[in-house]
Parts: sequence; C-alpha cells; structure tokens
Amino acid sequence: MRQDFLQDFAELSAIGAVPGGGVERQAGTAADGRAREWVAGWLRENGFDVLRDAVGNLFGVLDLVPGAPHVLLGSHLDSQPAAGRFDGAYGVLAAAHAARHVVDAVRGGTLTPRVNVAVVDWFNEEGSRFQPSLMGSSAYVGSVAADAVLGARDAAGTSVAEALTAIDALGEATAPAAAAYAEIHIEQGRQLERRGVDIGLVETNWAARKYEVVVHGVQGHTGATVMEDRHDALLGAARIVCLARDVVDEFPPGRLLTAVGRFTVSPNSPVVVPGEVRLSLDVRSLDPELVEQAHALLLRRFSEVGAAAAVEVEVVRTSLRASRRFAPDLVDLSEAVAAEAGLITHRMPTMAGHDAVALNTLVPTALLFVPSVGGVSHDVRELTADADLLRGVDVLSRLARRLVAQVPPD
Ligand SMILES: [Zn+2]
Repeated sequence: MRQDFLQDFAELSAIGAVPGGGVERQAGTAADGRAREWVAGWLRENGFDVLRDAVGNLFGVLDLVPGAPHVLLGSHLDSQPAAGRFDGAYGVLAAAHAARHVVDAVRGGTLTPRVNVAVVDWFNEEGSRFQPSLMGSSAYVGSVAADAVLGARDAAGTSVAEALTAIDALGEATAPAAAAYAEIHIEQGRQLERRGVDIGLVETNWAARKYEVVVHGVQGHTGATVMEDRHDALLGAARIVCLARDVVDEFPPGRLLTAVGRFTVSPNSPVVVPGEVRLSLDVRSLDPELVEQAHALLLRRFSEVGAAAAVEVEVVRTSLRASRRFAPDLVDLSEAVAAEAGLITHRMPTMAGHDAVALNTLVPTALLFVPSVGGVSHDVRELTADADLLRGVDVLSRLARRLVAQVPPD
C-alpha cells in the first residue's frame, strides 16, 4: 500500500518532467492533459466514475450512499513553468489514495458511510497561463462565472475553452455536491521543518490583493530621442518594482509580502524606448487591515511614479482574496486523527493561496500541510521526503474516513 503510493507518484511525476526533478504542466497544455488522463485512468481502475465539468474540473466519484453529497478530496495537477513535482499533484494523488482507503473500509465493513467520497483535480490553480488563479475551484464555489473562465485567454490569445477542447478536458457533467472539502498540500515554507513538525493544520489564510498594471509611455528611438522628450514606460515600471519592495519596509517586519512576478515590455527591442509595460503585482498579509493600508499607499505612489517618469500608470484590474478562518471543528478533527497516527502537528495560517481557500467560502474545509525541504517551491528543487508524503496520505485517509462517517447529509 505504501510503496504503491510512491510508485504512483513517480509515474505521475514523469509526465511533463523537466531537468532537475521538476515538471512543467501549465493549465490546459498537453502535459496537463496527459497528467489528467493518467489520474482519470487510475480512478477508473479503482472503480470510480470519472466526470468532467464545464470549466475543466476533473472528478472521480463513487456512490456509497445514493443521493447523499460528497466529501471532496483534492488539489490541482497543473504547475507553474519549470516547477516542482509536488505542488498540487501530491494532493491529488493523496486524495485518490485516501478515497480508495475509504471505499475499501466501507466494503470491508469497518466503516459506515453517511455521505459519499469524491476526488477532484481543480483546473488551473496556478494562474500562470490563464488568470485568475484558483480558477476551477472559484467557478465551483460560484465566485467566478463559467463564461469568464472559458473566455480567459493566455498570452498567445488561446482561450480556456480552446485549450480544454484541445486536450479533451471540457465536459458537461454536473459537479458533485460537496458536504465538506479536505486538501493536503506541501507547505512551501520552512515553518514545519524548522519546528520538527509532521503535519501543519491551517487555521486561516493570508489576505492577498493582486494588481494588473499597465504603464503607458511613448515608443521612440533610443539613439535619436533626446532625454527630455522621453516617456519611457520601462523606467516607470522599474520604479514600481522598487516601490513594491520599499513599501514593505513601512510596515512591521514580517507582516507584509509584495512581489512583481510578471513583467512584459513592449516592443522589447534593444533600440526602442519602451512604449508600454504590463506587470502583475501582489500584496499579502495575515492582517487584512495592512493589505488595505498598503493598497491605499500604492495607489498614491503609482501617481507619483507616473509624474516622476513622465508616463501614465493604469491599474487595469485589482482583486482581493479575503482572509478567512477554516472550520474550527475540522482543524480539531485533523489534529485528533494526526495524534492517533502518533504525529506532531502545528496550527498555522497559509501564506499562499490554495483551492481550499476557495472551497472554504462554501463548505467546511480542512487544509493540511506536509513539510517542504528548505521551504523551496515553484522551482524544480522543490522536495518533500518520502516519509512525509506517506504520513500525509495516512492523515488524509484517517480524516476522510471520519468525515465520510460523521458529516450529516444536507
Ligand atoms: Zn499548489
């Protein structure tokens, strides 16, 4: 059983593999399609029906209690570019194994289910190719419309609908109704490793505000346009990158995170003063008040940057992911089942966004972490030890068992 999980994980990790032990399976690409097919095959072999909904989410369902809602277990198979093999994919495979464990227990007569269990791969959690991130899970909970999902386009102009059709991932099935959701994920930080803890129990998520900014300048010749005539969009954008970093120092240490993660220069020629730069910026804090203070500060400073660099700074889109507590009784239950397994736990917030953050707005949700070596993530060096992977599958299986037996049908 245990070797079984590691072998399955090795097979899944070979799909879209890149040098250094990582994977590249951005949402809706051929590699994402192959990973989804591999998981669908695993689910069918283990007796689950495979469903695809209209926004690219993939489900494995097996009705133990006809008509009852489902305890959903899952995460995401898509990855960032040149990413690690654990982020998301570990959670989907752990969910599949935990669901099989539940079904085996029901069939073996050691578990009486009150609700069903289902496995899910949420489409496009990462948001690298198509924005926004948490796309499939947000559509499931109704915070993003299906039309907006299908119409979102990547940098090459391909829509989600086209990308999903190309990998045969667009379905018509009604997604299974959830009674509860549980997800296990790598921590992507160093808290668990530093404390010598086996399992992190997420109590709340950090608030995040994301911005898409366009700096408008005027395109010109780098050799022939005199300095006083320039409206250099890249100069303005570069100042925004520095501004995002400097704003952090106006808040207490460790309380605010900011980053410019994407930066597109037009026309990006060595002899052209850039006419336009598009950039993505995010601001995060556990304290929603600090995110709002930073927001006000940034908007004010954007105009100052614009004036100083003789360009126009336009915020074309901004969105807020609120901070929210996870269901306290599920945190308690997760703690109890981890203790039964003899594991050390630690209650903590999640700094990163996860599909569980979206599901937490709809149903009681548990989010569990396993340790990440050195806290490295979104990079091929991402690593979680085999023993930690197996402990996580064990805890998720125990939690799933309890949820399937305890969650009353609506
Ligand atoms: Zn993830």
